[in-house]
Amino acid sequence: MNELSPVPLLSAKTRRFLESSHRLLIYDQWLEAKSGKTLDIFDPSTEQKIATVPAGGEKDIDKAVKAARTAFENGPWTQLGATVRADLMLKLADLVDENAELFSEIEVVNNGMPMNPGGAFAASRAARILRYFAGWTTKITGETFPSDPPAPDIERVIITRREPVGVAGQIIPWNFPLGMTAMKLGPALAAGCTVVLKPDEKTPLSALLLGRLIEQAGFPEGVVNIVPGLGKQAGAALAAHADVDKIAFTGSTEVGKKIVKVAAGNLKKVTLELGGKSPFIVFPDADLEIVIPMAVRMGFFLQSQNCSCPSRIYVHKDVVDRVIDGMVTETRALKIGPGLDPETNIGPLITAGQLERAQSFIESGKAEGAELVTGGNVLNRPGHFMEPAIFVDTRPDMRIVREEIFGPVLSVQSFDGDGIDDIIAQANDTPYGLAASVWTQDISRAMRVAYKIKAGEVGINVHGIPDSIAPFGGYKQSGWGRENGAEGLEPYLQTKTIWAHI
Ligand code: NAP
Ligand code: MG
Repeated sequence: MNELSPVPLLSAKTRRFLESSHRLLIYDQWLEAKSGKTLDIFDPSTEQKIATVPAGGEKDIDKAVKAARTAFENGPWTQLGATVRADLMLKLADLVDENAELFSEIEVVNNGMPMNPGGAFAASRAARILRYFAGWTTKITGETFPSDPPAPDIERVIITRREPVGVAGQIIPWNFPLGMTAMKLGPALAAGCTVVLKPDEKTPLSALLLGRLIEQAGFPEGVVNIVPGLGKQAGAALAAHADVDKIAFTGSTEVGKKIVKVAAGNLKKVTLELGGKSPFIVFPDADLEIVIPMAVRMGFFLQSQNCSCPSRIYVHKDVVDRVIDGMVTETRALKIGPGLDPETNIGPLITAGQLERAQSFIESGKAEGAELVTGGNVLNRPGHFMEPAIFVDTRPDMRIVREEIFGPVLSVQSFDGDGIDDIIAQANDTPYGLAASVWTQDISRAMRVAYKIKAGEVGINVHGIPDSIAPFGGYKQSGWGRENGAEGLEPYLQTKTIWAHI
């Protein structure tokens, strides 16, 4: 591993982790990929290679699914009591907390996210999600139904039992790797499923560290199997595998549709967390002291590589000039740089491809006649850096207003009138429906907007994703099903009705 470039700001512990040999975790073994192929892992802020991991393929996925199946059918896992399962999850959460600094540095150096906000709370957030779902293990209960006796001396008993669906395949994206992994693993383990996890090809490192901690926590072999690899190979093989009972995917709507098609082979259960084009609606009575920094902070959070990014900002015409001026001033003050620098607000985009994609939207915004009021330039330095950009004078038919960009390009447009119908129509004019927010002091107006927005989550004077205790997911083409909260557990459970004459 001598060819790896030193990353001077990293702790010795993180450097040792990066340089250690990374393997696939299948059953209780750390293995090379069957093909012998590997993937180089890069720091998006330097474009330097930081680690090498095996590139799992169809055969590795098959082996991992067999391991998960064995663990589910014959292993000790399903015989463990719910309290023991909870204890294991709590132990894992403690280990995640104990390794918080290591996780933070890995997330920052692998994904490019700034330490703050982003990397610094990655571990504590993941630990909280695991603890939340550990609490559910002992609260998965069935029902008893009243029933008339079928005959004078016979009683009829009808009960339900909630059982785990079995082997769960989980495909994790790159934009918040550890948090997304915890969001998927938590409910699966709480329900008693076994798991084959495919981290993103670009950001597998935090999942591989988590695998080491899963072993250390004492989970039985085969309960969690981790196979990094390319989406088109390992991901597609997992989604299509005939012995996987459930697949959970987070990523683009386009790939989500492919997952649905291949999952049909054995009619596995599917949940999808997909793209978004979330509106952020500002009425004239909103507190602009809060609105302006929040629009900038949430709009450019993780370089806008987050599914609930408020990429369509609608501001009432009475305050639009003040909001635009304020946003431009705040945006120009953001410090762009490597995430490890504590001063950094805006890190690099994940890949050269993602940077190119964001640039193509800058070009299309200009070509379609929107006005670029700040940012948009690529920085002349190593790393996939660009200045966060804001377009104004946009129209609803422009690509920058319609498509998910997943890069730091926001559009601001004004609306008119005292009612809410026109702005609701604009906000809902999208194939997506993940998140939204409305900013006003008028609670009745806020609630009416919240009721009418077609999105899985609406913030009133707040934007983002609430804690793991509440369900999160998409309307329309933003997904199927929910993650987080009690609803997030449901897709990992199935109901068996048992009835008896006694
Ligand atoms: P993507 O292509 O949807 O990839 C997401 C995950 O799915 C990755 O782990 C990917 O693996 C895997 N994958 C790709 N093709 C697959 C297939 N045929 N079968 C199974 N798994 C497959 O997303 P992306 O290329 O990383 O980003 C493109 C766009 O997707 C972004 O610009 C953004 O619009 C959207 N996106 C949304 C979210 C979200 O949180 N909703 C997250 C990420 C991306 P590999 O990376 O190994 O190919
Ligand atoms: Mg892709």
